[in-house]
Amino acid sequence: MAIVELRGVSKVYPPHEKGGSDVVAIDDVSLSVEAGDVYGIIGYSGAGKSTLVRLVNALERSTSGEILINGRDIAGLPERELRTVRLGIGMIFQQFNLLGSRSVAANVSYPLEVARRPKAERTKRVAEMLDFVGLADKARAYPDQLSGGQKQRVGIARALASQPAILLADEATSALDPETTHEVLDLLTRVNREFGVTIIVITHEMDVIQTIASKVAVMDQGRVIERGDVFDVFSNP
Ligand code: ADP
Ligand code: ADP
Repeated sequence: MAIVELRGVSKVYPPHEKGGSDVVAIDDVSLSVEAGDVYGIIGYSGAGKSTLVRLVNALERSTSGEILINGRDIAGLPERELRTVRLGIGMIFQQFNLLGSRSVAANVSYPLEVARRPKAERTKRVAEMLDFVGLADKARAYPDQLSGGQKQRVGIARALASQPAILLADEATSALDPETTHEVLDLLTRVNREFGVTIIVITHEMDVIQTIASKVAVMDQGRVIERGDVFDVFSNP
């Protein structure tokens, strides 16, 4: 079953400058991500990838088209229900977006506090997640005491704390060196295999897609210009 499906989705922004023309960030995009996939979305800067992420994560509303999460169109949902949808989607980011004033453990705990999970459950879950990402010994450290790779592992622990079925990785390795990139991609592969989490990987780096994804959509100027199995798409003459 498709866990994330876009049907004819467009997103149009008002002109950047007065008298300019509308900006079509996403132009009639349809795609289908199956539960359990690692699905790559690749394209140059400006292709519309970040906009797509914000639409799927219900941070913004589309101009037209349907966005189905678990078979349910989120386009018309009221804000209160969108919050529930967002709880089922974990996010990791290029700049990690950790809270500098909170310990590693408190960062991972944060989404559970937002979801009002009880203290005992938070403590247990935080310990499990830090264990999973190999940072149990850093629970009391602060983000600025960590390397980039460690910060992203905290990001992954936080994203998974509330047990989402979907993880959106938005240029999650773009700030990391090649070796650290591969460590993080290995960890994401484990997230997919061990927890069955569907992962959507947004990147401008073909190497990332080839390492981790089985399906890919290539975006350019707001459109999907090619899609399919990674092997087929990238072995085109
Ligand atoms: P990518 O993530 O692939 O670099 P984006 O989704 O950021 O692409 O941008 C796609 C297009 O939409 C660009 O032309 C960008 O300027 C425009 N755009 C993105 N976000 C906004 C916004 N909030 N307001 C106006 N235009 C935007
Ligand atoms: P604060 O002092 O702001 O409450 P803490 O770092 O003490 O921040 O804890 C924040 C959250 O992280 C709490 O939910 C707590 O249960 C959890 N936590 C703190 N330390 C650990 C740890 N070593 N292992 C697991 N969970 C922890």
